[in-house]
Amino acid sequence: MDYDYLVLALGAHGNDFGINGVREHCYTLDSYEQAEDFHLGLLNRFLQFSETATQQEKVKVAIVGGGATGVELAAELYYTVDRLEQFGVHKIRHQTLDVTLIEATDRILPILPEDLSRKAEKTLTDLGAKIKTNVMVKGVQENLLLTEHESIEADLIVWAAGVQAPAFLSQQNLPTNRINQLEVQSTLQVKGQQNIYAIGDCAFLLQDNQRPVPATAQAAHQMAKTCASNICSQINKQTLQTFTYHDHGALISLSHFQALGNLLDQLLKRNWMVEGKVARMAYASLYRQHQYALHGFWKTFWLWLVNLMEKRIKPKLKLY
Ligand SMILES: Cc1cc2nc3c(=O)[nH]c(=O)nc-3n(C[C@H](O)[C@H](O)[C@H](O)COP(=O)(O)OP(=O)(O)OC[C@H]3O[C@@H](n4cnc5c(N)ncnc54)[C@H](O)[C@@H]3O)c2cc1C
Repeated sequence: MDYDYLVLALGAHGNDFGINGVREHCYTLDSYEQAEDFHLGLLNRFLQFSETATQQEKVKVAIVGGGATGVELAAELYYTVDRLEQFGVHKIRHQTLDVTLIEATDRILPILPEDLSRKAEKTLTDLGAKIKTNVMVKGVQENLLLTEHESIEADLIVWAAGVQAPAFLSQQNLPTNRINQLEVQSTLQVKGQQNIYAIGDCAFLLQDNQRPVPATAQAAHQMAKTCASNICSQINKQTLQTFTYHDHGALISLSHFQALGNLLDQLLKRNWMVEGKVARMAYASLYRQHQYALHGFWKTFWLWLVNLMEKRIKPKLKLY
């Protein structure tokens, strides 16, 4: 297919950093199908456990990566086991679940201010999760994580540590970094190219503070706007805009137990820490804003109404 302008917006997927055994023995959560796969694996383990386990045994889940995905998953797992009893599964209780969250840096949620990281850590440890920071995974075997100093047994291992762009991008004679992201100029054109743009998780752009634009939905959304405007400008022979990333903050939902985050006010140049109900409302409203951007007002309204009804009539857990 020929093109006048090309926009590469291929996203990214989990990065195994070349560590042995990750692909074979870990679940990833990059796509809906992978999440379904983990869901089935978890249900199977619960089923097996409720048939055979003794009092002392536990369902062990290890999550590698203490970013938003790993932290939210850990909390969600505890919420799940708390609900299982309502479905007649009496053998699996809160104490039966043993979640270990492993993070290579010195704290979970490194994207959030330190005190919010500590609060998330406390919520998770209160729930019963073990948090291991400054721990690098060196290899994975069946039901076993190998780190520098110990081996961690787990029934299920989830890999949620870092991303990389599709490998074929680095074979296209275009400049890429070590995780296959395309290096772009501030106009979002790929370096050395006039008519090829790259945006979102597959693009690499350093900000003025020398940190890369993060691989998040809000950055992808902002890049898409600048890219669209620049293509129009290029067609009309006008000057192209330079892209500046505006960080509006981050929100983390620890299932029904807690929600927290920071909202950056561009106008007042202030950083608002939010927690509890306010954070939960902000989280929910972000989700609706996303639907609004995709579907417009009326469809978002009907989706909200359907969700409201489903909340009343549908079970809280999907046990199939
Ligand atoms: C579990 C999880 C939770 C997340 N939570 C958050 C969050 O709370 N907040 C946040 O800001 N970000 C979050 N993210 C990150 C966010 O999803 C991404 O930053 C965002 O989707 C990037 O948008 P994108 O358009 O660059 O890529 P994507 O949304 O990944 O879209 C890329 C698309 O390109 C398609 N594609 C790939 N290769 C090809 C090919 N060769 N040919 C054709 N099509 C192709 C893919 O199938 C995909 O549909 C999360 C990511 C994950 C995995």
